[in-house]
Amino acid sequence: MKFDYSSAEQAPRRSAHRIVLITALCGVGVAALMSRETSANRHVPDSATAPMVLDADNAAQYDESIQSALADSIAVPQASEWITVSVKSGESLSNIFDSQGLPPDEWMALLKLGGDTLELKRLKAGEEIKIRKEGDQLQELSYALDELRTLNVRRVDDQFEAVTLTAEVEHRQARATGTITSSLFNDGNKAGLTDRMVMEMAEIFGYDVDFALDLRQGDRFAVVYEELYKNGKRMRFGDILAAEFVNQGKTYRAVRNVGADGRVAYYTPEGQSLRKAFIRTPLDVCRISSPFDLHRRHPILNTIRAHKGVDYAAASGTPIKAVGDAKVSFVGLKNGFGRVVVLQHGSQYETLYAHMSAFRSGLSVGQRVAQGQVIGYVGMSGLATAPHLHFEFHIGGNVVNPVTVAMPRANPISGSELAKFKLSSKAMVAALDQADARQQNAMATPALGGSAAPVTAAP
Ligand SMILES: [Zn+2]
Repeated sequence: MKFDYSSAEQAPRRSAHRIVLITALCGVGVAALMSRETSANRHVPDSATAPMVLDADNAAQYDESIQSALADSIAVPQASEWITVSVKSGESLSNIFDSQGLPPDEWMALLKLGGDTLELKRLKAGEEIKIRKEGDQLQELSYALDELRTLNVRRVDDQFEAVTLTAEVEHRQARATGTITSSLFNDGNKAGLTDRMVMEMAEIFGYDVDFALDLRQGDRFAVVYEELYKNGKRMRFGDILAAEFVNQGKTYRAVRNVGADGRVAYYTPEGQSLRKAFIRTPLDVCRISSPFDLHRRHPILNTIRAHKGVDYAAASGTPIKAVGDAKVSFVGLKNGFGRVVVLQHGSQYETLYAHMSAFRSGLSVGQRVAQGQVIGYVGMSGLATAPHLHFEFHIGGNVVNPVTVAMPRANPISGSELAKFKLSSKAMVAALDQADARQQNAMATPALGGSAAPVTAAP
């Protein structure tokens, strides 16, 4: 893409060339001084870095040209100043160029480069654009596309060149330890954990520790986590790599694993799952309107009929979640049950969800669903007096009460993945042991409470 720059183009072009010239001459200058010291009267071979041959005769002339080049470099600034423009609400690139005295063909030419420069069409209030201009010509522009990528545009002769630079992120390992004195969040924050990390820790151990009921003063925790650094500066916290929670004297440990399918889960250092294979209720907000009862009088049929599930009253349209990883084995109508979904969890377990107002769109038999994934919505299809979910839990073909049945653990890590996991888990256990030891020491001294301490840098 060529542009027609008429009268205004000379100045910046000359200055650009001048910078190059100065750089070159300085190089020669060093070479000249060195060769004069070592061999004042002999010719430096033509192959030397200096483009001109140096000898005593033209050395003085050289001095002069170097002097003038250096003087030039002092008189003419190498580049104009960078200006940081903060984008105001509703402002576009053309507004910004306008207010900077840059003509429209500048931003038009820039956007014609396409690629990442098109992101400049979607500026948001509060973002920053850095520009360097000379007269009414843009020389350079820099814009952070996200926390890692920066778009750099510069003028090369009469064209613009755009390049996107991606900063390298360094992952450092850190750890935090604390003792519960007031609340999980207070003491977590005191130890240097963010609210998000405290929540993640609670989720990791949520199947074993009821943080609302079981938490006690004197409970302890240790978290090994990642901190992400960009250009030597901490950008943000990363993932929790391992964690320990000591609840009422019982120690729970968790190590992060990324499965072959990319799924992240936490396991005991031995590779056992920390989560249950099933969540107990398929609804977030509900109350039990009719319990599991094998001798119940049916509200509509008015006969004694076993109630082989649990009824959860909830507003029509409330999302229903799969209680475990499963394969869909039935989607459709089943007489009095109305719209029904049946999920098959491995060979032994089956769950049934009835009276739905609608299925999740696209749900079909044979599909895989993950624990917590929405499969449909509460309704009153079939025989029902009010919107509710009728939920059944079958083990080996028998119905059981989902509220009281002992839930099995999710599958452990197995096969070749286990060997790999045990390697990384070993390092994590060592890190947790270290954190423990440090905490014991801290508790032996009068100063009690949390501390966050960086550990070694990890690749
Ligand atoms: Zn029911």
